[in-house]
Amino acid sequence: MGVTTTEILYALSVATTSNRPAPEDATQKSHHTTSGFRNPWDSWRDVGLSSVFEVMKRRLNGTGNIPNTSGPTVPVRKPEFLPTRETAKLRATWLGHAAYYAEFPSGLRVLFDPVLEERCGPYNLLGPKRFTDAPCQPNDIPLIDAVVISHNHYDHLSYHTVTAIAKKHPNCHFFVPLGNKAWFKSCGIEKVTELDWWDERDITLVPTTEKEMSVEAAGEESSKSVDIKDITARISCLPCQHVSARGPFDRNKTLWCSWALESGGKKLYFAGDTGYRPVSKLPEGEDDHDAKHDFPVCPAFKQVGEFRGPFDLGLIPIGAYAPRHVWSPAHGDPHDAVSIFQDTKCKNALGIHWGTWVLTEEDVLEPPEKLKVALKKFGLPEKGVFDVVDIGESREY
Ligand SMILES: [Zn+2]
Repeated sequence: MGVTTTEILYALSVATTSNRPAPEDATQKSHHTTSGFRNPWDSWRDVGLSSVFEVMKRRLNGTGNIPNTSGPTVPVRKPEFLPTRETAKLRATWLGHAAYYAEFPSGLRVLFDPVLEERCGPYNLLGPKRFTDAPCQPNDIPLIDAVVISHNHYDHLSYHTVTAIAKKHPNCHFFVPLGNKAWFKSCGIEKVTELDWWDERDITLVPTTEKEMSVEAAGEESSKSVDIKDITARISCLPCQHVSARGPFDRNKTLWCSWALESGGKKLYFAGDTGYRPVSKLPEGEDDHDAKHDFPVCPAFKQVGEFRGPFDLGLIPIGAYAPRHVWSPAHGDPHDAVSIFQDTKCKNALGIHWGTWVLTEEDVLEPPEKLKVALKKFGLPEKGVFDVVDIGESREY
């Protein structure tokens, strides 16, 4: 009758830490506006109402592709979560789209952008429906210490999913970019820390008294064998190039971000949802990555690499990019993803933001194909460095 560390309850505390060095422009807060936030780089071009009209026009005049989701697409398997907090490596499990579950060697268990609903849209009624099943539901995940959110778009932030997590894991702490705390409070979630780009916090999980009682209750034999330590981590809110909105009147009123999380000697970078460079409308079939095109790139990722890298694992978006002249400022393609991978100094990466909902015009299995082509162009191996996995599959680093 051994006691596993799974049964131990931890109290999580968040401490303001002295931020490590950041780039000079971080202190200027040039991404703040009087009413919200903006992308302060030449690599940004507004993806607004004109983009919606362009997509509608393409649909009506027949030039836009409608992806076929009827056949087999991305395989979905039941995720196997570790039964305890013990693991020697950083373990990452894809839960579809941008949702990833990370198990750190320290014992820390973190969920990034969990959306396990059928539809990504208001009230689970509007918005696209999944073409691949959710691999699990929030209650199937045994341990969740922290939930980390990149921004408030429906494919990254779900009322049903986060409230289900907060109900099952009352000690769970939510980390969000600036301006999102009020929404969580309105959902009845109080344990929230909101951060600005380049802000950092120290996280400590201390075993609680319930733990000591449960160890004692388990008897002498097991209390000797259980060695319970505090779990510590450092979380950094970092820039990326995107927008935010949950309704028609809150455009860019809340911040978007990427995240770095270090714990137990492993460092993870979660890129969230991001563009990299703004592509103009080009003649049909022309490759926007051809050397003759010189679109400005977002400088934030090199800064992330320089000031917070290198990372053992990057979770980097590879989907929702077509047509490029509409979506490129806000959503990178696989070639942009490999650039982000290199800029941020990731040693390994896994592709996110594909394979779940049809958001844009590219065929649903095109992102991993284009990723292979991009990796080859960069002189990287097709497999083993920047991979895609099945939904529900885990990898260790
Ligand atoms: Zn988004």
